[in-house]
Amino acid sequence: MVKEIQLRVNLIEERKENILLYKASKQLSLDKSEISAVKVLRKSIDARKKDIIFNYKVAVYINENIPEKSDYIFEYKDVSNAKEIHIIGFGPAGMYAALRCIELGYKPVVLERGKNVQDRRRDLKAINQDHFVNEDSNYCFGEGGAGTYSDGKLYTRSLKRGDVRRIFENLVYHGATEQILVDAHPHIGTNKLPKIIENIRENILKYGGEIHFETRVTDFTVKNNKLQAIQLKNGTEMAVNSVILATGHSARDIYELLHKKEIALKAKSFAMGVRVEHPQEIIDQIQYHCSGERDELLPAAAYSLVHQVNNRGVYSFCMCPGGFIVPAATANGEVVVNGMSPSRRNNRFANSGIVVELDIDKDFKKYEEFGALKGLEFQKDLEKIAFFAGGRTQTAPAQRLVDFVDGKLSTDLNDCSYQPGLKSAPLHSLLPKIIGSRLRKGFAAFGQKMHGYYTNEANVIGVESRTSSPVNIPRKENLEHTEIEGLFPCGEGGGYAGGIVSAAMDGERCAEAAIAKF
Ligand code: FAD
Repeated sequence: MVKEIQLRVNLIEERKENILLYKASKQLSLDKSEISAVKVLRKSIDARKKDIIFNYKVAVYINENIPEKSDYIFEYKDVSNAKEIHIIGFGPAGMYAALRCIELGYKPVVLERGKNVQDRRRDLKAINQDHFVNEDSNYCFGEGGAGTYSDGKLYTRSLKRGDVRRIFENLVYHGATEQILVDAHPHIGTNKLPKIIENIRENILKYGGEIHFETRVTDFTVKNNKLQAIQLKNGTEMAVNSVILATGHSARDIYELLHKKEIALKAKSFAMGVRVEHPQEIIDQIQYHCSGERDELLPAAAYSLVHQVNNRGVYSFCMCPGGFIVPAATANGEVVVNGMSPSRRNNRFANSGIVVELDIDKDFKKYEEFGALKGLEFQKDLEKIAFFAGGRTQTAPAQRLVDFVDGKLSTDLNDCSYQPGLKSAPLHSLLPKIIGSRLRKGFAAFGQKMHGYYTNEANVIGVESRTSSPVNIPRKENLEHTEIEGLFPCGEGGGYAGGIVSAAMDGERCAEAAIAKF
């Protein structure tokens, strides 16, 4: 017999061996010998009170063994000679589209502008050290897409959009830790992601899929509203039947190409702001109600904040405890920041995007001439402002937090994890009012919610501009573009995902849709 129960374990108990077995036997009034195993299904931390509690959901196996096999089985077929589906982009959406094609007996032909994970590292070094951005290989572009050198947080609000568990199980199949199957806030870490992505690549190749790196798609041939061929930067043309377009939200050239070809696009609301970085110790002390270092059993503390300012949400986004701020620009002449953390989350800083919801119908009046690309143009302008304010390199403009709210230039800045460096700049006046003034009010309100958060020991760094796509590539119910037959807009670039897991789920769905159309 198997019984699922909830167990509460405090910090002192958590140190004891076999505590779950002990607690389960007490709760179920069983002798320990009757319990064959206690399997953790879910683990979360409740730190609302000083007495911190680990909440466990467990399956107790009574006189019965744990089944060895998972409910999820991934069976890949040899597709070397199967019908082809072209996939543009090898981020989470493209990777999971390719894997799903193989499961269903179709051959994925992947075209990816960037390099493989290993070679990509050199280009990341060049951004951090030489301030040079390779437009095809950077923190957003290359094998694994923006998901490779990302934080690898796997929580998603898209539970209704698909089988989240299936994606987690598949990541475990490709080498991720099983811990992601139980943690309430699963996280892989930037140091572990590249290996998992390499395993996915090897699996796709092993079963006969094709992956072409350093292969940028530059044009589409459309006849009678049917996609016929794609052109590559090297001059090659490829005839196609179905194309999954999974190029991510930073592939501006793709949006511009579609717009120029008068293929339907829509401007979409999105959020923009800054990244804030505190010493991790401050966040730990606030969240864990302690004065010195956090207990060694506790992970670097996270936070999630939201406040309404003038009818718009100001909220924390992609919070990275024990992490680093990274330069996420995809071209020279722009500064974009984002965050990531290693699996152990052991860096001494805590960073988070703090962004303001923007309304595409109200906030971009000056950009109307750009039509569907108005949000994109606004985003570009802000990234250019950050570039100039930072000193025309990847050095980012920054201000101490209280100075930012008080509208005062910082005379000096705190230490920071952002490798290209910071330059003191009046971000409070550089950001457009719709963002800057809301952020200032938002930060002050966050200080009320988390005492100690509102401090000049934190830096505010600009700009966090790539939270989600400013453009939507519309599709019909069968996931095909509303006008172009054979084109399946997919993932974050299409406006159908907001993170690794939702992009992966959309990739699977688009593969199924493209196959259904074949
Ligand atoms: P992308 O990952 O953007 O992939 C698109 C791919 O298409 C890229 O590899 C690109 O090179 C390729 N491409 C673009 N144009 C072309 C072209 N013309 N021809 C050929 N190929 C092309 N999300 C989370 O859920 N959790 C996190 O912790 C997290 N942390 C992040 C940290 C950082 C630093 C960054 C940058 C992002 C982070 N994200 C995180 C966001 C997440 O990475 C994205 O939501 C996700 O990768 C989107 O997947 P996608 O496949 O739709 O697009």
